[in-house]
Order: sequence, then C-alpha cells, then structure tokens
Amino acid sequence: MITKIKKLNDHYLGEVELNGKKYEVGNAIPGETVDVALSNHTAKITKIIEPSPLRVKPLCPIYEKCGGCQLLHIAYPEQLKLKTAKMKDLFASNGYKTEVSPILGMKDPAHYRNKNQVVFGFDAKRRVVAGFYEEETHKIVNYDTCYVQDSYADSIIQFIKDLIVKMHLTIYNEDKRTGLIRHIMIKRSKTLDQTMVIIVTSSEVFPGRQNFIKALLANFKKITTIVQNINSKKTTHVLGDKNIVLFGKGYIFDELCGYRFMISPSSFYQINPLQTKVLYETALNNVGLSKDDVLLDAYSGVGTIGIIASSKVKKVISVELEASAVADAITNAKNNNIKNIHFYCDDATRFINNLARKNEKIDVVVMDPPRKGSDEAFLKAVLALKPRKIIYISCNPY
Ligand code: SAH
Repeated sequence: MITKIKKLNDHYLGEVELNGKKYEVGNAIPGETVDVALSNHTAKITKIIEPSPLRVKPLCPIYEKCGGCQLLHIAYPEQLKLKTAKMKDLFASNGYKTEVSPILGMKDPAHYRNKNQVVFGFDAKRRVVAGFYEEETHKIVNYDTCYVQDSYADSIIQFIKDLIVKMHLTIYNEDKRTGLIRHIMIKRSKTLDQTMVIIVTSSEVFPGRQNFIKALLANFKKITTIVQNINSKKTTHVLGDKNIVLFGKGYIFDELCGYRFMISPSSFYQINPLQTKVLYETALNNVGLSKDDVLLDAYSGVGTIGIIASSKVKKVISVELEASAVADAITNAKNNNIKNIHFYCDDATRFINNLARKNEKIDVVVMDPPRKGSDEAFLKAVLALKPRKIIYISCNPY
C-alpha cells in the first residue's frame, strides 16, 4: 500500500493511517512516500518510493532488523535538530513560551554505551545466536557488531558465543524452561578501563565453569571481574537475585566528573558516560549553586548527582527507594571522602512531604525519576518546599 509519512510520533516511529486504522512504522522520515506491507497490528516499509533528502545509509549492519535504535537512517546532526524541534513542540503544545536551546550532542555517537546485554538462543538451523530481541517479538536478531555498544565488550560476547559451542554448554529455552545460559551482561568503565562480565544462568550448576573463566581471562586482559548471576524465574528481567563472584571483586569502578563510583551487577548507572558528564555539569552549572545552599537529590540511585554537587553546596540530602542503591551510595560517598551528604531510603514524595511539614530549608531540588516520570503528588510536594530552583532530569519528556 502506498502512503505518505506525515510525522514521527514520540517514539520516533512514522504514523500512517491505512484502511481506517493507525499504524506505527519504523525507518520512516516525514514527507517520504513509501510502500507499506500490513500484517495484523504492524506495518513495515517494503519500498521507499520518494526518499527524503535527510535519508542516509545506516551505519549499523542490523539496524533494520533490531528494534534497539530508531533514527540511524537519519544523519546524527539532523537527528539532533529533529529532537530539538520535538522538544519545542512539546513545550509549545502545553502552553509554555519556553526557550529551548539546541541539544548538546556527542562528537561521535558510535559505540558510546558502557553496558552491553545480549540474550542467547538458536536460529532455524540450530546454530547458537547472540543478540537482541526483534521489536515486539521474541525472535533473536543475531549480531557480530552493534553501532552503539562498546566494541571491546562486543568482542567478548562473540568469543563467548563460540565458547558455548566448543564447551557444549546448553542454552536456556524460555518456553520449555530448560538449558543453562540465559544472558551475558558486560559493564565497562571507559575512564578506568575496567570490565565486568556477568553470566546469567538458570541454575547454579555450571559444568566446566573453571575452564570457561580461564578461557575468558586468557583472551581478554581488561576483564577485572566475572560474576555468575542466577535467574531461575520465568521473567523478562535479565538479572536474578543471586550473584556468585567467580573472579575479582564482583564490581568495577568508574570515574565521573572527578569522583569514583562503584558499579555492581544490578546497580543503576547512566549508560552514556561522555554525555552523563555533559548532562550533570550543564544541570549543576546552570543553577548557580552557593556554599549556603542545601540541595535535595531526589531519585538519587547510587548517589552520583549529589556526590558531584557536594563540593559546591553546604549540604546534600539524597532520597532513593531501593535499599541496595542507597547502600552503594553510602559506599560511594565514603570512598570519595564526602561528609556533607545524607542518604535516606524512602519514597521520594513521602520523604519530601515530611521535609515540608518540618519546614526544612531546601534551596535547590534535582529530580531524576525513572522513565515513567514523576507524578503530580511529587510535584506538589516539591512546590511545598519552596526551593529557589528545580532541575528536572528526564529520560522521557513525553
Ligand atoms: N540520579 C541517578 C539515578 C536515576 S534512576 C543517576 O543519575 O544515576 C531513577 C532512580 O529512582 C532509581 O534508582 C530508582 O530506584 C529510583 N526510584 C524509583 N521510584 C522511586 C520513588 N518512588 N522514590 C524514590 N526513588 C525512586
């Protein structure tokens, strides 16, 4: 069916209306005329009849199959313009006359991620594959290289794929719930060149475990720790609750904005280290912090923002719901020798309402909630504190 792409939605997918039904299509650019094939709920572009001048050949070999990235068919500077325009629209359509500055992009947006994560399975010919789920399916897209993941970590994953075959290890089957190897997750510190390999298995019993470790260490000198994570549940979560340290300390360190942070298998850590520095510095430099200020870091994770801001203010109060993240944050503050920061394990809204009730003086609030965003109750609680400035860091503004 031939149609024209009118606009990209909030997920950067093209919106088309065919046979009276709305569809989302990937790999689209507004203004293009395309041929689309429909199947049940999905629509796929089969031919681009009139391409947009913005269209480029994607630099990733698996881009069109894998659902991980949305805009690699548009040159990076144009992607930034498109996203800036979307932010302007977002404010304007909600009645704000806010000035929107151009997005601060990367010099080189390739291989920026510090966390690689793949699932294992078999293809139709029963060959072992490692990769990502195709969008909205449980079909695995096999890969050798990925445009956004760390290249060193990717080479470890390719090595493990071969090792699994050589060692006759079994692969977990989601439906039958049989087999051993589920996922590999690799976390890297690019600043300190440390690497953590996490092997997610369905049970603790891991035949040939010592040989597996030996082979990895013999081939990859930058591996500093190896952890086996046990996930025996029927779940879409990658990691289970139990970790067994097979080599090294069971965590790595990373350096960010002059401070050291511990990264453990399950702790949250921003995945684009170069841009995290730009983000945190832009946020904190724009506030005009002073030595009399009390800063509240809400949704603080392992304490990064509060720790980085601590030298610029009198006191930092951090609040975070996950007890393990709070424990990591306390360790991070100790390791960086920071004394003017206090961590609380609580729901951010409840905690802030309590602060307001006690008339606690808070000058600046930094809030960095999970993807689903903050809610009205939280925003009302923050207003009750009457801070001088509120910085809202959002990974999904829509
Ligand atoms: N600011 C941190 C972490 C941001 S991720 C960083 O930049 O690294 C968001 C964090 O919010 C997660 O650690 C999550 O556990 C926490 N969180 C989720 N719901 C919460 C709630 N209701 N109250 C407080 N923290 C919450």
